[in-house]
Amino acid sequence: MTLNISRTPRNDQTNAWSTILPHRTPHASLAQNIKADWIVIGGGYAGLAAARQLAQNCPNDSIVLLEAGICGENASGRNSGFVIDLPHTTSSNLDQLEGSHRYMRLARAATAALETNVRELGIACDWSRDGKYHAAVTAEGSKAMLEPYANELTALGEPFEWVESDVLAAKLGTTHFHRAIYTPGCVLMNPAALTRGLADTLPANVSIFENSPIIAIDYSNGIHASTQGGSVSAQRMILAANGFSEQFGYGKNRFVHLALSASLTRPLSPDEQSEFGVEKPWGLTPANGFGGITMRYTNDRRILIRQDIKVAMGQNVASRKTEAIARTHKALLANRFPSLRDVTFENSWVGYICMSRNGAPMFDNPAPNVWIAACQNGIGVTKGTISGMLIADKACGVENPLILDLEALGSPVQLPPRPLVEVGARATIGWEIWKNRAEA
Ligand SMILES: Cc1cc2nc3c(=O)[nH]c(=O)nc-3n(C[C@H](O)[C@H](O)[C@H](O)COP(=O)(O)OP(=O)(O)OC[C@H]3O[C@@H](n4cnc5c(N)ncnc54)[C@H](O)[C@@H]3O)c2cc1C
Repeated sequence: MTLNISRTPRNDQTNAWSTILPHRTPHASLAQNIKADWIVIGGGYAGLAAARQLAQNCPNDSIVLLEAGICGENASGRNSGFVIDLPHTTSSNLDQLEGSHRYMRLARAATAALETNVRELGIACDWSRDGKYHAAVTAEGSKAMLEPYANELTALGEPFEWVESDVLAAKLGTTHFHRAIYTPGCVLMNPAALTRGLADTLPANVSIFENSPIIAIDYSNGIHASTQGGSVSAQRMILAANGFSEQFGYGKNRFVHLALSASLTRPLSPDEQSEFGVEKPWGLTPANGFGGITMRYTNDRRILIRQDIKVAMGQNVASRKTEAIARTHKALLANRFPSLRDVTFENSWVGYICMSRNGAPMFDNPAPNVWIAACQNGIGVTKGTISGMLIADKACGVENPLILDLEALGSPVQLPPRPLVEVGARATIGWEIWKNRAEA
């Protein structure tokens, strides 16, 4: 039976991370009917890692990767560019510490694999082990969120430093924060450059087609995926379409879709930079992920602001809402960095992430010839990469102890029906933002 795909991703061409890069010609779109051993759906971190790993595991197999849009314009290319090695919050409870160790093994394996690709394939993406500040705006926020986090990092044996407000102000160029915990393992990069670089350096037995949304799929005799211009028939499939995976018949009522917004400024001029007084790039995540704001000062002297989380079950936010978000980000920039109030944004954009109620990824083999790596719960650079690599190992029967670590994270639990889940998620997020408004 053929399943028609009614919802496909939309590229609104607002992602500033890619507009600041040199022009790139995307791979051709699919324009014929082809056969392959494997089809991989999705050109984000998960799909790109899966295709690369499949190619290494099965060098004689043909692999086709179909991407609806352009690699680097998807969520993987429009995120904040933090390659995160640690859980944002842990617990000193022993079971949860073991969970944190698992998480760190997975995240660090992903970071190492990405770093090897960046170095060996010469992917220019500003890859830099700058670490990150996890910061609280208020003394209360520091006590409630940072102090337990410091205890947990100690229990995990992870290195960290407390950074007090005066030192923090000198490092960040803003007096907005009360205190932060600095951890050294996080990498910062340009996510569009990394994603397109990974897509452009796939092994020779991977054929990649961009601007090729799958509009129908048939599972009755192998896998038969159709686009407007052609089709792929394959024996086996890896589905790495993140929140869009449910369109392919998998993960229904398991995902909450959220829209996250970000803005990136133009580079500071030499005068602006000297007034700003900060030399070194930095990245900052907020002590509270709902109420707070993620920020970066990049290698090329730009400020990134990532603020605003909305429930977006249709994965489609109207452009007038992006305009309102851009105005808010402009006000935030002026408030945090008064000397930079006249610095303009390259652009503001929205990207979609996929969460499960229990924070578990979808890492599954739901049919003999179908494997899925989706639902990265907002930390997809590392989680997407490792789940793509490991799903390819699982599909090829390659033993890898990290598969057990990933499977131990569980699988997404069923959600209530759509109107209820939407109302519930909006209420939960709204309450979290209101409760933590002092941490904005
Ligand atoms: C603003 C923002 C900031 C973020 N910051 C960070 C951060 O700093 N660090 C971090 O780790 N994570 C961050 N994230 C989350 C991270 O970007 C995602 O978790 C990650 O990109 C998910 O990767 P993926 O490969 O699973 O999915 P995606 O990148 O969403 O890739 C899925 C692909 O499937 C394709 N697809 C869907 N339907 C079809 C179809 N019908 N046919 C063909 N292809 C299809 C899509 O076009 C898409 O390219 C952020 C996200 C956003 C939006």
